[in-house]
Amino acid sequence: MNRIYKCKFSNKFKLIPLIIYIITRTEAGENMDKKVLIADQINEKGIDELKDVAEVVTNFTISPEELIKEIEDFDAIIVRSRTKVTREVIEAAKKLKIIARAGVGVDNVDVQAATERGVMVINAPESTSITVAEHTMGLILALSRKISIADSSVKAGKWEKSKFMGIELNGKTLGVIGMGRIGSQVVTRSKAFGMETIVYDPYITEKSASELGVTVVDLETLIKESDVMTIHVPLTPETKHLIAKPQFDMMKENAFIINCARGGIINEDDLYEALSSNKIRGAGLDVFEKEPPTMSKLCTLDNIVLTPHIAASTSEAQRDAAIIVANEIKKVFKDQSPKNVINMPVLDPESFSLIKPYFELIEKIGKFMIQTAKGNINEIDVTYCGELAEFSKQDVLTRMILQEVLNPILTEPVNLVNATTVAENRGIIVTEGKRCDAKGYKNLIKIEMKSDDNDVSLEGISVGEPKIVNINGYKVDVETVGTMIISKYKDKPGVIGAIGTKIGKYGINIAKMQVGRKELGGEAVMVLKVDQHVPGSVVAELKKLEDVHDVVAVNL
Ligand code: NAD
Repeated sequence: MNRIYKCKFSNKFKLIPLIIYIITRTEAGENMDKKVLIADQINEKGIDELKDVAEVVTNFTISPEELIKEIEDFDAIIVRSRTKVTREVIEAAKKLKIIARAGVGVDNVDVQAATERGVMVINAPESTSITVAEHTMGLILALSRKISIADSSVKAGKWEKSKFMGIELNGKTLGVIGMGRIGSQVVTRSKAFGMETIVYDPYITEKSASELGVTVVDLETLIKESDVMTIHVPLTPETKHLIAKPQFDMMKENAFIINCARGGIINEDDLYEALSSNKIRGAGLDVFEKEPPTMSKLCTLDNIVLTPHIAASTSEAQRDAAIIVANEIKKVFKDQSPKNVINMPVLDPESFSLIKPYFELIEKIGKFMIQTAKGNINEIDVTYCGELAEFSKQDVLTRMILQEVLNPILTEPVNLVNATTVAENRGIIVTEGKRCDAKGYKNLIKIEMKSDDNDVSLEGISVGEPKIVNINGYKVDVETVGTMIISKYKDKPGVIGAIGTKIGKYGINIAKMQVGRKELGGEAVMVLKVDQHVPGSVVAELKKLEDVHDVVAVNL
């Protein structure tokens, strides 16, 4: 898939090379002094990649005790799953700059300890995309042609041809939830089977959807229309039990569901009910709420195909992972920016103490923006005013905002090092500016975010505690804690009352209320701070009220 990405920054956008420099302090011509330890068996091609930039030592059987002794000599270590890079190992290291995991997860690396010691942790998230997509297609075929139960039957000496009547995929609708790296590969492959593809992913660009020739729909439409539904989203609070009883009730009776993403996205009790009552035709799972799923009732069913979290396990994925991490290490040794760094950079103590007072404001602004965005985010423009305009490292703050905005929607952790790369990869144009005038405040951050379906602007200040002082051009004074309902409505008698009455009907108590308007009878904004969580169904009800133009609930 070809994608064109733009990411504009001010001229001072030099942080990553700077950080890499701080971490590596590489001098020209010094590269062959570098030593890389390869502690787990990786593909030979990855080892070859490194030989021209470093002394490569392989020890695939190194014990934890030996590793602690040996690590002090090495600048980089590559591991797969066997070797645990513990705090003890990291603390024993004297020169270590990079821990590379030739794969996706970094569960065997103490990332916190690495971050504290300024050691970069890198991985290869893109290495498994094709492999997982192919496994997904494998599960779809196993279900549609009953391959695994037919196989068991033949091996049991039976010949039950009529029992294994299958269905064709040709002409069927495939619903893909999450069109990131893996979802996109599934889409491409489904076309070869003559399937119609629909996609639900509120965060993809229109451009990437049209490049792949898919129809983007809402979740309900996808669930109702899919003959085969496949999940490729991260497990987040938003996606936990994304598919449960209400969704199974909406599915077509003959539909299949596949999960090669993460256990917990499907509610397994509800899946059992749907399968055992033949509400849906079948399911294919590579991931489970509890792994291994030894005690799961799902294992007793015939209309389910289960694999032991092997969707990413192919020799090609392992080869690609080895090459990707080797190239990342080479980049770091050459003072270039690696793209798969997953932990924080080292900041000098002076910069850190200047940035620290704004951490909370930044976090709240980011959380607010992602909850109010509708559809794919296209542009984020940040202006730093007052004292903040004098500060020379605003780009770190911008990265922090990106981190807060992007983390809730992506699988890969977004951090200070990789925030701009991730934004760039998602086609988000990021601009940054400075203004001396802070509207009478000591400091002020203005952020404007353009998404497919709405534009949001916000001004925040930090006065001991963070506050929002402007939303979409309307002056407000809002603390950044708890839940708030933000409504856009026509400024006329009765609208505020109708909103209050409706909220009251659902047992939601208003703690504080602020309204703002630009002109009498024009559009107005109301911010209600409320004491209870506001379910999506209440927001939907509020949106239906006459003269209410938009409503969003934000939880800070
Ligand atoms: P990715 O980050 O490239 O894509 C995730 C996509 O999900 C993004 O496009 C994002 O916009 C979308 N998304 C986020 N929240 C969403 C929501 N609430 N609703 C709809 N879409 C949403 O990730 P990827 O590399 O494609 O991985 C997808 C999943 O596969 C992850 O859960 C990952 O952990 C899993 N995975 C599993 C295996 C395995 O062995 N089974 C291997 C690799 C990856």
